[in-house]
Parts: sequence; structure tokens; C-alpha cells
Amino acid sequence: MAKYAVLRTFYASQKWRTLRLAIILARTNKKGELRCEKCGEIITDTINAIAHHKVELTPENVNDYSISLNPDLIEILCPDCHNKEHNRFGHSRERKVYIVFGAPLSGKNTYVKQEARRGDIVVDMDYLYQAVSMLPSFDKPDNLFTNVKGIYNLLIDNIKTRYGRWNNAWIIGGFADRYRREKLAVDLGAELIFCEASKEECLARLELDEDRKYRKNEWKQYIEKWFTRFTP
Ligand SMILES: [Zn+2]
Ligand SMILES: [Zn+2]
Repeated sequence: MAKYAVLRTFYASQKWRTLRLAIILARTNKKGELRCEKCGEIITDTINAIAHHKVELTPENVNDYSISLNPDLIEILCPDCHNKEHNRFGHSRERKVYIVFGAPLSGKNTYVKQEARRGDIVVDMDYLYQAVSMLPSFDKPDNLFTNVKGIYNLLIDNIKTRYGRWNNAWIIGGFADRYRREKLAVDLGAELIFCEASKEECLARLELDEDRKYRKNEWKQYIEKWFTRFTP
């Protein structure tokens, strides 16, 4: 398991995320369209633009930047084509559980969106809030917390007991407290993946974020709070 941790650290790294965004920008045409390089479909949201390595990354080649950070070896694919591409390799892997943690706006969702495959289960409090409130994302009424947490706990329990037929499981959260996240990792047999970003980066992303435009102060506080609580 630890062998592949180096790959996940790479995909969570700043240098990879910066390159991915630069490639997306460079391959967006003058009309503002970004197309899947396999099927030609327009990819409407950049979170759905999967940067795929044509040469499969391994723990042995990941630190060779002429491979891992070489734009010529990176394809931008839609999620469908990316799933097909990986099924082609025919991995018969055992199911894995990952806890993806980091500050608000550190890129956790983007990371999971890139790494998860169709048939994986993803647990994220924000999405659960949306599922039961029909409110826009990031508007989370306090009075629903108990019910949302109830669903969350049920899913965590499903993952713990390996109940259901999901492939891999991804749990997204802040998990600033080291003791809490390490305990959960042990309980679930999960691997921890840290989305590292400085407070300045998170705040800068907040400035550019359309969804949170009218809730900037609230999210500034979430970011501040996470960095005060964080125990590495
Ligand atoms: Zn495609
Ligand atoms: Zn890929």
C-alpha cells in the first residue's frame, strides 16, 4: 500500500496541480471551449477535465519530471473516456479506502474528481447537505446537521464493514486534528492523503471562487479556523 502513496502525494502536489491548470488553459480554444482529446466532446466544467498520463505513472518514474510533468505526455480527457482508458489496463485491484484531507479550498474535490473512478463511493458532508436540502452547494443550514451527520455516519459504517459493492472509497474532509484522522484511518483501514496548500493559496482561491462569492466572510473563517486547528 505504501508503495503507491508516492503517486498520490504527486497528484496532490502543488506542482502537478499548477501544471494541470496550465495545460487546461493552453488547450482551451479562442471560443473558450475545452474538448476531450479522445471523443471531442466539450468539457463544460474544468473539474471534469481529467489530466491523464499517457505513460502510466509508477513509483519508479513519478519523480522523473520529463515523464510526470511533461505536457506532451498528458492528455485532457472527459470522465467517460478516462474511465474507459483505465478499464483498458484491466487492473484487478483490491478495494481501497482513502481519506482526503486538507484546508477548505485546498483542492480536495478536484483531487478526488481526478482520481476516483466510476463505481467508487465518495463521502463528503457538503454533497450530503445538498442531497437533503436542495440548496445550492456551500449553503448548509445548521438545523439539518444532525440528519446529514446521520447519513454520513451510516456511510462511514458501510465503508468500515465493506458493505456494498463499491470499488474504492473516498472520504473527503478537513480532518485538521491529527489524532482524529489517524484514528479514523486505522478504524477504516484507510490511507491518508493530504492536499497541501498554504493559507494564502486557499484565500487566493476563495477570491476567485464563483460559488462562494456571496459567502466570502464565512469561508474566510472556515479557512482561518482550519489553519489554527491543524496538527500536522
Ligand atoms: Zn471523451
Ligand atoms: Zn489516467
